[in-house]
Amino acid sequence: MNFYSQLQKWSELYPEKTVFSCGNESLTYRQLYHMSESLAYFLDNLLLDDSTPIVVYGHMEPLMLVCFLACVKSGHPYIPVDTSIPDERIAKIIEDSGAKMMLSPIDLPQVGLEHLSHPLNGDRLRDALVKNQGKTVSSESYVLNDENFYIIYTSGSTGNPKGVQISYNNLMSFTHWMMNDFGLANHQVFLNQAPFSFDLSVMDLFPSLFLGGTLWMLPKEYVAAPKELFLSLEKSSANIWTSTPSFVDYCLSDEQFSATILPELTTFLFCGEALPSATALKLRKRFPNATVFNTYGPTECTVAATSITVDDSLIEKYESLPIGISKKDGEVYILSESLDEQPDGEKGQIVITGPHVSKGYLNQPGLTRKSFFVLNGQPAYKTGDLGYKKDGLLFYAGRMDFQVKVNGYRMELEEIEAQLSSLHLVQNVMILPNYKDGKCEFLTAVIVPASHKFEKEFQLTSQLKKELRTLLPQYMIPRKFVYRPALPMTNNGKVDRKRVLQEVTA
Ligand code: AMP
Repeated sequence: MNFYSQLQKWSELYPEKTVFSCGNESLTYRQLYHMSESLAYFLDNLLLDDSTPIVVYGHMEPLMLVCFLACVKSGHPYIPVDTSIPDERIAKIIEDSGAKMMLSPIDLPQVGLEHLSHPLNGDRLRDALVKNQGKTVSSESYVLNDENFYIIYTSGSTGNPKGVQISYNNLMSFTHWMMNDFGLANHQVFLNQAPFSFDLSVMDLFPSLFLGGTLWMLPKEYVAAPKELFLSLEKSSANIWTSTPSFVDYCLSDEQFSATILPELTTFLFCGEALPSATALKLRKRFPNATVFNTYGPTECTVAATSITVDDSLIEKYESLPIGISKKDGEVYILSESLDEQPDGEKGQIVITGPHVSKGYLNQPGLTRKSFFVLNGQPAYKTGDLGYKKDGLLFYAGRMDFQVKVNGYRMELEEIEAQLSSLHLVQNVMILPNYKDGKCEFLTAVIVPASHKFEKEFQLTSQLKKELRTLLPQYMIPRKFVYRPALPMTNNGKVDRKRVLQEVTA
């Protein structure tokens, strides 16, 4: 059964069941179905045969889900943009994607609107829903097959974010894997903490919709206030937990976080960064009846491509937990620089193939050619991750480039450098990741300042941080700033990262 018929089925069989709950707001399957039809009808009439992507801006409002579905029902991929993304970056996304329309349940950001013929804020959105009540859209308009379903923008080493195109088929390959291989059942409650602009949210959103489940959202206000967070968890009756290991570590730092407050929790799904053995061990103790899965994959391969059940024997056997085996309809290879398969135990680049591999970056043929190719007749993606195979399992062994993860957020150090370099107070810059127990804890910006009026370094730092916040999301802003009169260079004229690191950490 296809995704759209499945949703319609749930709205007919269980119209009053909650599909989405966030704080005091919620949505039933009936409301979701009818509102998405009305809005899709409105979009279809407004944009006619055009299939340009639509930016959907907001945080975790129930209408976000209505907007996503209305976009795909009217033949448009959606680009989820969280409120944590600064306006300048949103303007770049609008320009790069060629979007003509932005939908939002709240107020719109104030830049980039000149590129849009149809900006629709919360009031106009609600008005469109009321005026088109009862209207439906033809299934011929639906996004299907190889057409783009969503586009997620991720950090780019060129200094600009890049849009990963995920098709209907990519998403269905991923969702069917989730439904078949992780012991999920109909009508469960899925916890979601990841903003929609981070593809980890796809891991619970689509399995939940397909299985007639309920999405229980944990908005950023709760995450910032542990008391609210724990009250919400206790109320949730959640069965399925999806998060980065960093987020569960944050929860585990409170002794309350155990099966006592989440007695119905059966499954932990982790993705986005390495799962430390210590975290898995704590979870096994505090939630003895739950199954822990470590999954691995980049946004370019639709959330995740490998998985493994982390039980006590696995934790005991391996110091660093494996990332498992490939989903059945794909393959994962460890390849040398010349793209030859590496023997077991030898490190090489992790290359993923299968129907979940994206067609590439939107409007970026050059970047697409660098990372996407065809291997053994299948679409393939060079992840830039190092890995190796042992005992029939895959292991992750770090990055081959300057991409890092901080609290599960993916970022290219070069993008932060490019944005800092664009500021008039900066002459040269290098960003250093600061690691603890193999995990990047925070970033340090090493800066050669241009001439400036500030007497103290902290004043300069606070001005730079202020300017950077208009260009980058908060999670990409370096925590520490250090200043140098010059940066050491390599023989070929590039900043010598190794020497900067030695000098700063000496
Ligand atoms: P993203 O596109 O934000 O999901 O980030 C993808 C990158 O996160 C991968 O290429 C890896 O570098 C890292 N990653 C994802 N899952 C894992 C995992 N289970 N273990 C280690 N690294 C991971």
